[in-house]
Amino acid sequence: MKRTLSTNADGAFIDDAQINSLLWSQPEDPARVRAVIAKSLNKECLNLEETAVLLRATDPALVQEILEGARTLKRRVYGNRIVLFAPLYIGSLCINDCSYCGFKRSNNEAERITLDTEAVTKQVSPRRRRAQTPDPGLWRTSEV
Ligand code: SF4
Repeated sequence: MKRTLSTNADGAFIDDAQINSLLWSQPEDPARVRAVIAKSLNKECLNLEETAVLLRATDPALVQEILEGARTLKRRVYGNRIVLFAPLYIGSLCINDCSYCGFKRSNNEAERITLDTEAVTKQVSPRRRRAQTPDPGLWRTSEV
């Protein structure tokens, strides 16, 4: 599925105002939380609004339902294993400005590099040889 990122007036794709609106403008809704958990257990991607529904939950029982849903989904996808992910950075250029990150656009001292196809292939090949997963499709989705 191809996704496109929309940007705000600053050119950033993280829209603080939208995120804050989604997080704080609506009350907790147990029925909606359970619907989002069910969607997640169906291995469907959650959108921003649905993610906010989960993050808004404060009722301890509801939070437990979210945690149990996460545990169930983890077991369905990965089984009873610990799975390690090795992030592959294909560039150090970013249009956002997260305060904690060295890649933030306001960091004028950061060296900006974007790997070409050949360089990405060189980075991926050794990882792929070392990777041990039951589902190469999952590996591709999470690695690249
Ligand atoms: S790379 Fe850094 S600045 Fe860019 S979105 Fe990620 S955390 Fe924020």
